[in-house]
Amino acid sequence: MAKRDYYEVLGVSKGAAQEEIKKSYRKIAIKYHPDKNPDDPTAEDKFKEAAEAYEVLSDEQKRRRYDQFGHQGMNGGFGGGMNMEDIFSQFGDIFGGGGSPFESFFGGARSGGGRRVRKGSNLRIKLKLNLEEIANGVEKKIKVKRYVACEACGGNGAKNGTDMQTCGSCQGSGQVRQVVNTMLGQMVSTATCPTCHGEGRIVTNNCNVCHGSGRKQQEEVISINVPAGVMDGMQLSMSGKGNVPERGGVPGDLLIQIEEEPHPTLKRDGNNVIYDQYISFMDAALGAEIEVPAITGKVKVSIKPGTQSGEIFKLRGKGIKDINGYGKGDQLIHINVWTPKSLSKDERALLEGLRESDNFVPNPGKNDKGFFEKVKDYLQ
Ligand SMILES: [Zn+2]
Ligand SMILES: [Zn+2]
Repeated sequence: MAKRDYYEVLGVSKGAAQEEIKKSYRKIAIKYHPDKNPDDPTAEDKFKEAAEAYEVLSDEQKRRRYDQFGHQGMNGGFGGGMNMEDIFSQFGDIFGGGGSPFESFFGGARSGGGRRVRKGSNLRIKLKLNLEEIANGVEKKIKVKRYVACEACGGNGAKNGTDMQTCGSCQGSGQVRQVVNTMLGQMVSTATCPTCHGEGRIVTNNCNVCHGSGRKQQEEVISINVPAGVMDGMQLSMSGKGNVPERGGVPGDLLIQIEEEPHPTLKRDGNNVIYDQYISFMDAALGAEIEVPAITGKVKVSIKPGTQSGEIFKLRGKGIKDINGYGKGDQLIHINVWTPKSLSKDERALLEGLRESDNFVPNPGKNDKGFFEKVKDYLQ
């Protein structure tokens, strides 16, 4: 199924302010909440779709990337989407710490009442790609060292996963209420519990495998589906492939920064690739069959008799696939006619004989466009 535009999903305009985006998302999330729509199997999809759209549009950096590159720029076509834990972690911002209308839905994950699920740190890697990999997309397997949950304690850091107790300061909610005096009178605000640092529980005996951290570092091979058409400096992200936080929570993301290796002979220009081809004066005048390097191997090109220096040949569709699926670029071959820099006596005599010949006197006609006209033609 083709992905819908995030702005369309949330029913807001492209220039919508954060407040409006938040308001609109809150409305949709309440309307399509799966608990409220047990008979409508499409509700959960709509719920998730809205959550994903909000995840992107509520983050200025992600939003800019989405505006620029569309869906492909966001997750690199990993098809990851969001899981319910990701969605839940948004609600802290949307509905505040406690009192979420989704208490029952997230019952399992929210054993601590208003306690928020903590997210681990993101992992960042650089991924080098050559032009061929970029042109058609590629699956790359890379090794990363990431923190995963300790198996002995299930990730909470307590001995056998059970040696812990509910925090007495906050009764497990992870938050304490504070009454603050302001000009407008008394106001109640909530703050992270200082005793348990918001975790809602206190480990009485540390797990002896992870010494209480709840996690261990491990080397993993991760397969990355790089979409065609990525650019140097672009960042892809894989949800949930980062580090698990200490003492339980959801893992962060794996952020992959693309590095483009320069090609030895082809130059990239957006989705097009450019190649400079030098041909001899004889090939230009008589015509010739030549081979030029292309992204995938070599391509035969025929030079027609009377080819001028500066002509540009276009190999349609031999460029790079567009990242948003808008077709494919071309390969442009710039023809340069090579003028000999030194001549033997015989060669000189031969050319002297041709010097005054009518056909060798430059005589550009209407169809012999200058360099700038040619470039203009190919930019259209
Ligand atoms: Zn506490
Ligand atoms: Zn452990």
